[in-house]
This record gives sequence, structure tokens and C-alpha cells, in this order.
Amino acid sequence: MAQFCWLPRRFDHHVGELRCAKIKLLTEGGLNGYDNMKIYLADLVYDTIQTNIVVPLNIAYIAAALSQRFPEDVEIKLFKFPSLLEKAIKESPPDVLGLSHYSWNTRLNQAFIEFCKDLNPGTVCVMGGPNIRVDRDGVYEFLKKIPLLDYYIMFEGEEPFLALAEYLLSGKRCVIPENCATLIDGQLVLEFADLSKREKEIDLPSPYLTGWLDEFLRDENLMPLLETNRGCPFGCVYCAWGIAALSKVRLRPMHVVLQEIDYIAGFGVKHPVWVFCDANFGILPRDVKIARKIRDVMENKAFGPSAIQLWASKNSTERNIEITNIVSPEGAGGIAIQSADKEVLIKSGRGKINFNRLAQQINNFRENNLEVMTDILIGLPGETAESHQKTLCSSFDMGFGKISPMNIRLLPGTEYESLEFRNTYQVKTKFRPIFGCYGIVNGKYVFELEESIRATKDMTETELNRFKVMHWLIYLTWNLGLFKPILRFAQECGINPAQALSELQNNPPPLLKELFLDIEQKSMDEWFDTEEEMIHYYNIPENFNLLTKHFVKLNFLYIAKCYVSNAMTEEIRGALQGIIGRAFRNGTEDETIMKEIFKASTLIVSGNILQGVFSTRMWVHGRTAAYIIGSKNCADRDMVELEISRPPEYVDFCRHYLEVGGEPNLTEHTLTRFLEAAGAMDRLRNRVRLVS
Ligand code: SF4
Repeated sequence: MAQFCWLPRRFDHHVGELRCAKIKLLTEGGLNGYDNMKIYLADLVYDTIQTNIVVPLNIAYIAAALSQRFPEDVEIKLFKFPSLLEKAIKESPPDVLGLSHYSWNTRLNQAFIEFCKDLNPGTVCVMGGPNIRVDRDGVYEFLKKIPLLDYYIMFEGEEPFLALAEYLLSGKRCVIPENCATLIDGQLVLEFADLSKREKEIDLPSPYLTGWLDEFLRDENLMPLLETNRGCPFGCVYCAWGIAALSKVRLRPMHVVLQEIDYIAGFGVKHPVWVFCDANFGILPRDVKIARKIRDVMENKAFGPSAIQLWASKNSTERNIEITNIVSPEGAGGIAIQSADKEVLIKSGRGKINFNRLAQQINNFRENNLEVMTDILIGLPGETAESHQKTLCSSFDMGFGKISPMNIRLLPGTEYESLEFRNTYQVKTKFRPIFGCYGIVNGKYVFELEESIRATKDMTETELNRFKVMHWLIYLTWNLGLFKPILRFAQECGINPAQALSELQNNPPPLLKELFLDIEQKSMDEWFDTEEEMIHYYNIPENFNLLTKHFVKLNFLYIAKCYVSNAMTEEIRGALQGIIGRAFRNGTEDETIMKEIFKASTLIVSGNILQGVFSTRMWVHGRTAAYIIGSKNCADRDMVELEISRPPEYVDFCRHYLEVGGEPNLTEHTLTRFLEAAGAMDRLRNRVRLVS
């Protein structure tokens, strides 16, 4: 039922200043709204470091819809970076400030709301996005926490924002639109729309085809972001897309999707990686056609992408394989298993995902010699230290080419973050800064924090923290490829790589022992018990400076440390040789193979990340080549020739990130941050090809 009101109370308090917001008060008909309402929409990210930043597709949708509906009445500007928004607000504060809200910009948004209201109390401040509890109590608490925020738009933003704009423009301030939450006299006013009745086809103007993203496409550092459908039918408890309100899969018109691909590919600026943000690319038969279109622009358009990033659908095995073959025939596929324990998966809301089909899909990838990567979460409901170790072993047994274990960030709006879930699983969380999310707004320090799971009733914090070393070893030895051939060889000898790495962790040689202790200690020290404690600590100038200059992701920091230290890599090599060497007798062919693998590894791992284009060849046993290239096709052959090379695109990629004005910038810190970029890890290895 629609609510009746006059103005939101906080708005009412500032009615004397509403003239600044160009509100006209007519003698007849009451408030008549704005003269050409100035709207700033921002999808803010901190620009303190260069990471993977996408164009602001979300707010561009809203801009395109607003300008179509109110062509004469609104003047809209879009922002991605805080410095530009700050400048614009100083020069001319908007009538409406709309901010997208995610875990990485929540405090930044608050800083801008305060700043904007300070300059113009009449600005209507609106937030919208998934980073909020979706029950009435949660929304109420959120609005109370940010007293200057006027409205929060729930779920999909376009329709409620249009309704809110209409509400403000028309002067009919008596009905609060559905899905627009606000406080009036301290009471929550929020009428939820029935989202289940929405049409299957999304009828919105394209932000690309209407030119709203042109200024962002001109920036070669921003990645094009495309959406072909919305919603996710799965219900993972830790994911904001898995909530019931967004479970229906809705489609953007096919002809528009295809035109958008053409538009970006013909725009005139090269963006090497494009991102498709669908929760399940491949869920629909038409996705094969979209994949073919992508392949077409990759091959035939100068400004088409070199690679794309997408999230594959969970239960559509054959189609996923077909799509991967089209868009990434020599590349990788991704299948996030999160856990291999059936009970854990059911408790995590992933019971609908058919694990056998995932396994079948992985096998198909492998038969086609395609690499598959996976994500593993630590701290899922019901996951114990033992079952997590088994999950790691299973990931190797299933043949994943990359295994990415991660902490679980508790996101408001997800089931796992709810009080009920927290109590049921006795979830213990801690807080730390989000990497790269810090800056200064209007002279004030701003930074973001994440709340992550540190223990549950099934896994203690000590157990969870100890896995940090194991996870790091997987990154270094397997994902990075430094010791992948030798670990593949270990698998053939009956030793699971997770077991070998666990043994390495439990009996480390001296340098590694020190390093492992350091990793465990640092990964404990970076957490704060409470949000308040962390905020207080980083509001102190010297601590804030440390944050901006030295806070990095530990996995990457220690990979960078190891990458630049020959002694450490030698210790790992020696320890693995000892562990694996026990599985066969000296003087056998196995020993020869192992020696060949180690020799080739020193060429495959790029010793100098900025080295130029090169190519070299070597003869090895067929079995050796099979372990090195990860394909059994040549295993039966006596000797084969391998080519190890560094192609021009690798060189360009590394120079792009690691050279400033043509000069190398290779500090441990820079290298650590380089590893954050999509595709950077792969560039630490050279390319290997079977010649004959
Ligand atoms: S399948 Fe992916 S997008 Fe869907 S709910 Fe699970 S994690 Fe979220």
C-alpha cells in the first residue's frame, strides 16, 4: 500500500534552504518540483591504485532510463572516480546525488553524502545497491546509521529511481514510490514491490547505444562491462545475487546485446579485457550465439577484446564447453566448486548445483586440453579443517588448473550475514581494510572495511588461519605454475599435491619455516575484533599513511617476496624433490623425468617479468612434456621438442603495468600490486608449445 507523507523529515528540516535546490513553490497546486533537475550519479571506486575497474554500467542504465523518460527535465552527470565527483560538487552541487552501494564504497558514499549536504543541505541523497540487509529491520538500521541519507533504493534500481525522480519533479510529494526506503518521524517507510511479476524481458534503453558510457570507453584503463541477463536461480547463502528477490532470470533483448558488442568493438579504443557480469553465462541457449559474436569481434575488429571474463552457468555442461571453445579455445574455463563436501554444499545453499555435472564438465574441459579454474571458500557452514583439506585434495584430483581458496566476506543482504545464520553456526568475524579502498575526500580520510569469517562452530580461528600458508603454497606452486609440472608428476606417482604441500608446510626447511611463521602471524595481525576499533586505528594519520602506502594482499606480497628470492624457491624445489622422490627408486626413468621437469621449469618461469620477446627450444621425453604442458597426448612418445617463448602480448601487458614513463618499476610493492590485475599471474610464466 502506498504511503502518504509530506516530505521526509530530514528534508523538511532544511526547507528554508530548498531554494538552493531550485525547488519552485507555486501558489496553486503546492510544490511543483524542480526546474531541470540536476542529478549526479556515481558508481564510485577508489582510484588510489590501478586495479581492474569496469565502466559504470549500473548508473548508466539509470541515466539512460531517466533521460528517455524526462528528456526536458533532468540534467545528468555520471561519475566513477571520487576526485571528479568532489570537484563537480564543489563547483555546482546537484539537486539529487545517487550513489551505487557495494562493500567497497560504503564509507566513501557516506563521506560524499556529508560533503554534499554540507555544501547544499537541499540535495536529495539516494543510495542503492546490494550491500544492505533486505528485511525491514535491516533497512531501518541502515538508514538510522546514515542520518543524512534521504532514500535507499532496494534491489534493481531503474524503476524505483524513475519513480523517485517523477515524485520529486512533479511536486506530488505524497506517495513514496515502491522499493524506495526512507525514514519519516523516525519510522521506516518502505513498500516492497512484487518483483516476481516483472516481465522476463528487460525493457530498458541501452547505456552503450545511447552514448552514456562513451566518456568511460574513452579511458583505456576501464574495462567494458556487459550484461545479457539478470538474476540467479541458485541460492548460495554468502552471495547477494542468491536472494529470493533476484532469483528470476530476466533477459536483455538479443539484438541490443549484439549491437552493444559491435558498438564497443567499433568505438576506437582498445580494451584488452571485457567483462560479462551475468551470474550464469551459458544458462540460456542464446548465449552460444552471443559467444560467437564475441569471437567475431575478437578476430575481426581492431578494437575487439583480447580476452573476456565471465562466470559460467552451473548446470549447463555441454553449452559451457561449447562457449569456452568459442571464446577461449586455448584458454581457461571456470567452475567454482567452493567445497567438495556434500553436506557443506547443502548447508551453503548450493544443493541445487549438480556436482556430478560439474565433474563431467571439468573432465570435458580436460579432454579438450582446456584449463579449468575453481574457487574454494574457507569458513562455509559445516566445513571443518578436515573437510576443507579434503576439498583441496579433491580440487587437485578433479584436475583444476587453478585453485583459488578465499576467505568469506560477510555481505549484508546475504543469508550467511543474518543474525539467525550467525547464531546457528556460531560465526566469529573480524574486520580488516579492503585492499586499495582508501583515499581522501574533502580533506578527510576515508577507507573501507570488510567483515570476514574467522571461525565457526566447525572450524577454529587457529585452524582457519593455519590454512593461510597452505593456500599461499597452492597459489605459488600450482596457480603460478612454478612447480606445477613437478606436482603433476607427483600426482602420477600417487601423491596428491595438497598432501605434498601439507607435508612441506609441516616440515619446512629453515627459510621457509621463517616465511610460514611470518605469513601466519601477519594474517592474524591484519584483523581487528570490531569495526569501531579498526576505524579508530586508521583515523590516526600515521596509521592511515601506512594503510595507503603498505597495505597489500598477503598472498601476492609473499608471492612477490618468493619470486624475487632464488634461495626460497630453491628450498621449495629441494623439499618437493625429497617428498616426491620417495615415491620412486633412484636410477629409474622417473628420476630422469623429474630432472628434466626441474630444468624446463627454470625456463618456463619468467626470471625477469619485463624480459622482451624470446623463443627457445629443447628436447625432452614425451612424459616430461606431458607434465609440462598438462596434456597426455605426447606421453607415449620417446622424445619431443618443446618451444618456450615470451610472446609480444605478454611483454606489452607487463610493460603496461610495470613501467612508468618507459622506466621499470619493479619494487616488491609494485610487483605485489601488479599481481592484482586480471591475467597478471599468467604473465609470470612464459608460453610453452609442443613443436613436434
Ligand atoms: S550461483 Fe553464483 S551468482 Fe548465483 S547465488 Fe551462487 S554465488 Fe551467487
